[in-house]
Amino acid sequence: MVKLAGLKQIFGNKSNIMINIKSCLLFIPLLLAGTSFRPQNTQVWNNKKCAVVLTYDDAIDVDLDNVVPALDSMKLKGTFYIIGSSPVVNKRMGEWRRAAKHGHELGNHSLFHPCDGSLPGRSFVGPDNDLSKYSVARTVDEIRATNSLLKAIDGKDVRTFAYPCGDRKIGDVFFYEQLRNDFAGARGVTPGLQTIDKVDLDNVDCYAINGQTADYMIALVKKAMETHTLLVFLFHGVGGGHNLNVSLKEHSQLLHFIKQNEKDIWVAPMVDVAVRIREYQVANHLKRN
Ligand SMILES: [Zn+2]
Repeated sequence: MVKLAGLKQIFGNKSNIMINIKSCLLFIPLLLAGTSFRPQNTQVWNNKKCAVVLTYDDAIDVDLDNVVPALDSMKLKGTFYIIGSSPVVNKRMGEWRRAAKHGHELGNHSLFHPCDGSLPGRSFVGPDNDLSKYSVARTVDEIRATNSLLKAIDGKDVRTFAYPCGDRKIGDVFFYEQLRNDFAGARGVTPGLQTIDKVDLDNVDCYAINGQTADYMIALVKKAMETHTLLVFLFHGVGGGHNLNVSLKEHSQLLHFIKQNEKDIWVAPMVDVAVRIREYQVANHLKRN
């Protein structure tokens, strides 16, 4: 009834209704053509309102002890950004392999996690792992070697990368430019929500979580649903295991909210979402193939 009243308001009285319908029909193809290219169209995110990606960095024990069981219990899939040299990779390789078999992505977080020690606040960077002292060739080679290691674990050829410390440059060179063909995309550390046409696959935005509440994280998910955008979470410790941490309870509440709203949220590993974004951007001539 509300709809009918609305139509009457738009088209006017019965006497005028046919002529108005005819004139409106002429515009329908135009309207459809317009909407099919609008990124607000919910079809772009696997027919959901938004995409949410859960990422967990640094290959730490809590990934396998806390996170994988929590995700598996709710049939949610995440991305684990693996440091190739992490002792947890060697020690628990069978468990990483099982996690990949369950549909989680093993993403590449480099071999030794080099960060730019020349930047302010980087006293934690030792001379051996200082990205500012790396050559571009060495950086690229180590990241490719990590892909080989990850392929030996999960058998996959397509995955995503995450910049250690979010550092993208060595001197003036964006080193990932040489790695574009090795990955579906790369996650950065800048906070932001973007529609599918605006996502930069060389530097995907994300929200780094350290001590925030479930309410804060759920508000971000709601915002992504309203704006039809991509929301990426970056976690380190979950229930401990890292100095950047979120409590088990807050993390669990977030997962429950996502699960309860799964009809509206496309929850997928970064690689699946990145592949989808690339398809969209290439099809709409927003990005070269
Ligand atoms: Zn890291």
